[in-house]
Amino acid sequence: MRLFAAVLPPPAAVAELREVVQGLPHDEALRWTAQEGWHFTLAFMGEVGEGPLPELQVRLERAAGRTAPFVLRLHGSGRFAHRALWTGAAGDLDTLRLLAERADAAARRSGIPMEQHRSYHPHLTVARARTEVDLRPYVEAFAGFEGTPWPVEELHLVRSNLPGGGAPGAQPRYEVVGSWRLRG
Ligand code: ATP
Ligand code: MG
Repeated sequence: MRLFAAVLPPPAAVAELREVVQGLPHDEALRWTAQEGWHFTLAFMGEVGEGPLPELQVRLERAAGRTAPFVLRLHGSGRFAHRALWTGAAGDLDTLRLLAERADAAARRSGIPMEQHRSYHPHLTVARARTEVDLRPYVEAFAGFEGTPWPVEELHLVRSNLPGGGAPGAQPRYEVVGSWRLRG
């Protein structure tokens, strides 16, 4: 199964972002992500068999247990080249990064080969380009967006079901398979 660790925005933050996204021009060139799946990836594990799962869960619980709850808010806009349009995060980014490192280490120590991470860039993808498209006008359109802060109190392990296989709509795109409270 395809797995990643994530922070999930609460319903109020999702509602704020939905309002902003609805105000953007809905170009055919963009594929908008479903609000049910909005997340900040902490550590991407990719395809993982059943083998490492029990240890991974124990280690993620420990990672969450060592990390104190922290404040985050949705902040501004950005893009990855011509491919992805996202909103960023502000608040206690040091703790967000620490949690991302701990989730990465938890996966690595469970035997999951993790990519060498480049600099961690927290983002929540709101749209992907179907074809090469100039995302700059979209970025400019909500550059000033500031969400209401919320306390991040949980770390989640999420399963990603790539679309394509099986009947369309038969399974959720993302499924939370584990959640652990931050207790540091
Ligand atoms: P899709 O691939 O259908 O466009 P997606 O990217 O959201 O959708 P996944 O590819 O399963 O679905 O990725 C899940 C999450 O992990 C996403 O937030 C994605 O940006 C992130 N991710 C995917 N691949 C990597 C990678 N190699 N390194 C870091 N993060 C990744
Ligand atoms: Mg992807």
